[in-house]
Amino acid sequence: MSAAIELSKAGLDVDLIDIDPDWRVYGAGITITSPTLRAFQHLGILDEVMAHAYTGDGIQICNVQGEPINLVHTPSVGGPDIPGCGGIMRPVLHQIISGRVKQLPIRVRLGITVDSLATTPSSVDVTFSDGSQGSYDFLVGADGLFSRIRNLILPGAPHPEYQGQTCWRLATARPPDVKRRMFFLGGRVKVGLTPVSRDQMYMFLLQTTPRPPHLPDNELPDRLRNLLEGYGGQLQTIRENLGPGANIIMRPLEAFVLPKPWHVGRVLLIGDAAHPTTPQLASGAGMAVEDALVLGQEAARHADIGRIFEGFMNRRYERCRLVVNNSIEIGRREQRGAPPSEQTRLVEESLIALAEPI
Ligand SMILES: Cc1cc2nc3c(=O)[nH]c(=O)nc-3n(C[C@H](O)[C@H](O)[C@H](O)COP(=O)(O)OP(=O)(O)OC[C@H]3O[C@@H](n4cnc5c(N)ncnc54)[C@H](O)[C@@H]3O)c2cc1C
Repeated sequence: MSAAIELSKAGLDVDLIDIDPDWRVYGAGITITSPTLRAFQHLGILDEVMAHAYTGDGIQICNVQGEPINLVHTPSVGGPDIPGCGGIMRPVLHQIISGRVKQLPIRVRLGITVDSLATTPSSVDVTFSDGSQGSYDFLVGADGLFSRIRNLILPGAPHPEYQGQTCWRLATARPPDVKRRMFFLGGRVKVGLTPVSRDQMYMFLLQTTPRPPHLPDNELPDRLRNLLEGYGGQLQTIRENLGPGANIIMRPLEAFVLPKPWHVGRVLLIGDAAHPTTPQLASGAGMAVEDALVLGQEAARHADIGRIFEGFMNRRYERCRLVVNNSIEIGRREQRGAPPSEQTRLVEESLIALAEPI
């Protein structure tokens, strides 16, 4: 959606397709960093995001009992209007960005995918799953972790690799004493809280498991209650209130580094299709939006597709690789029980690097 917005703003004629006939996103919360908020400002949605989201500063580090041990600064980037971090529910963010798409002359077609594509010297010719066809100057594969477009253009690319942790997320009410993002470190699992509005927040919990667990939904509340055993403060209250109707989403963490270039012929991969990451730096979605901004800028600057893609790769590869590699490394430190300071040091170093202009 962000790429469609930016390419349309750059004066290109854009078709946007999505395989989901209802154009939805699942109902979890998402943490947003200051660079992500900066990207939202360029995308033109910052004010609307701030009206619906939580925004603030810092991550309160606590021990297992919930006692504060450190405050990690989250540097504000890009000017005084941009907070240091935030959180929002994914469906709310989806509604804001899709609302922006609908205001622009972008043709949106839902419930279809790309069946096949062929690059000619002057176009990329696409056959869609409904039998229709289209001919384009270039195609952007922004179809996520299990990208079909990646499989079509780079069949030998690495596959998403399980990174040893499973992420549990619980959307719940935000008590007044959750004033900012929080991490609870030093225990069996890593737990965090992110406010997503004035009265809502989500909890995430990273569990180390040799293989991703497969559990029926009705078992999730009890399992999560077991994982939270022994944790104090706000986590104790959450544990006590976990019931059968709890909004819990459990996902294995998968990632890999795709070597450059992320394009073949007239087809370019962006977002998770190109650089799927574990969430330790809460930057996957932010990187996807930044990709879109850079692609729009390069498309406005050059007419030649090769130069657009080359300009894109020069500006995106190292930054996205840093996010993927450092997120995986933080996950490894979490799994081997490294002291909290060793875990937060790499978070802080990464946030400083990501504060650089894109
Ligand atoms: C547990 C977990 C927690 C996370 N937490 C955070 C966080 O706090 N902050 C953060 O910034 N990031 C976080 N991320 C990462 C973030 O969710 C992703 O980086 C981000 O969603 C990538 O966006 P994307 O648009 O590239 O892909 P996606 O969000 O996966 O979107 C892909 C789109 O393509 C569509 N699609 C898929 N296949 C096809 C097809 N064949 N044809 C047509 N359309 C298709 C889908 O319907 C979807 O709309 C987290 C990830 C995980 C797993």
